[in-house]
Amino acid sequence: MTDIRDAVRAEIERRRDDLIELTQALIRIPTLNPPGENYRDICEFIAARLARSGFTVAFVRAEGAPGDSERYPRWNLVARREGARPGPCVHFNGHIDVVEVGKGWTTDPFGGALIGGRIYGRGACDMKGGIAASIIAAETFAALWPDYSGAVEISATADEETGGFGGVAHLAREGWFAPDRVQHVIIPEPLDKDRICLGHRGVWWAELETHGRIAHGSMPFLGNCAVRHMGAVIAEMEETLFPALAARQTAMPVVPEAARASTLNINSVHGGQAERPADFDGWPAPVVPDSCRMIIDRRYLAEERLETVKAEFRAVVERAKERRGDFSYEIRDMFDVFPSMTDRDAPVVGALTRAIEKTFGRTPQYVVSPGTYDQKHIDRIGRLKNCVAYGPGILDLAHQPDEYVVVQDMVESATVMALALADLLGIGAG
Ligand SMILES: [Zn+2]
Repeated sequence: MTDIRDAVRAEIERRRDDLIELTQALIRIPTLNPPGENYRDICEFIAARLARSGFTVAFVRAEGAPGDSERYPRWNLVARREGARPGPCVHFNGHIDVVEVGKGWTTDPFGGALIGGRIYGRGACDMKGGIAASIIAAETFAALWPDYSGAVEISATADEETGGFGGVAHLAREGWFAPDRVQHVIIPEPLDKDRICLGHRGVWWAELETHGRIAHGSMPFLGNCAVRHMGAVIAEMEETLFPALAARQTAMPVVPEAARASTLNINSVHGGQAERPADFDGWPAPVVPDSCRMIIDRRYLAEERLETVKAEFRAVVERAKERRGDFSYEIRDMFDVFPSMTDRDAPVVGALTRAIEKTFGRTPQYVVSPGTYDQKHIDRIGRLKNCVAYGPGILDLAHQPDEYVVVQDMVESATVMALALADLLGIGAG
């Protein structure tokens, strides 16, 4: 076993410059989402490289997906390298899109500068560093053991940052993650090189609208103020809902620990007249608001059920209604994501655990993400449970100014990924 580890280490080390250059090249293709720029370019770049390494490539456009247009087509790449004999398929999935740049950068966000052992740029850790590490891992593995059993797949997918509907959800719906094609999935999101992310909490987004009646603002008693109704809802949430959510703890190992409780964010509240447009400096008219809308972002736990989550919120609104006397309202579902958690004894978790132990001499930390990522689609649409996130980078740096990835972390996590490939595809077993 030591031989395998040493061989992988030496071979990845030999490719360190290649890994750096590949990461830089990926950062230099600005794939901002929204709107979804240069997806085809980055897919072609990765495809050309993987084709040289013996992969067969397929381009898949998610036609009709949200945001897909002739100007901004939702392109995805699936590359597959068959081994010498039949066997299981290990699939690495990385999202190609990056979020907006934002303010506060001291380096070029699309320059990919290498400074003091770090590569800087938007997407450096989330997650072009992870894509590069998985490519180097796959190429290293195939070079060391060309007669492996099974297949290695690498997909580069669109739109993870905006829900993944033009990316992994589309591929899953089209059967690319069907159990007869793919058996193990690793998503190299930046969860840190010695941690395995088993899944994520659930999500329910909804809009509550309270109704009132418009009237002259000088005689509010003739109208019915929708904003005051919403105020009563928020007061009731403060009194009963937020304490109840905070007291509810999950057995899921969510990090940070504060996210082991149920949470609810009031995403926005809008009531009454719209704010003054920037080019209008007049005064508002005196009216009683007849509508107030609140958008909530409720994150729920594996121990909770979506129907109960919804009923609990409706009960809060009902209590506020009693408190106010009466008002009418509507709750509109926006979207939901079920919680997802892969078993600790799933095969892909076991292989990564052994690879981390071999690389670092310690057991990994098992974590669950407070927010969701593409695992939801692989689990729910693809019906594949043997999926985790593992990759280089520090999650806190994602979406921040001066985002970077540490080269040494990429080298070490590429080592872990290549060792996991060897484990899952029959190397060292005889
Ligand atoms: Zn990401």
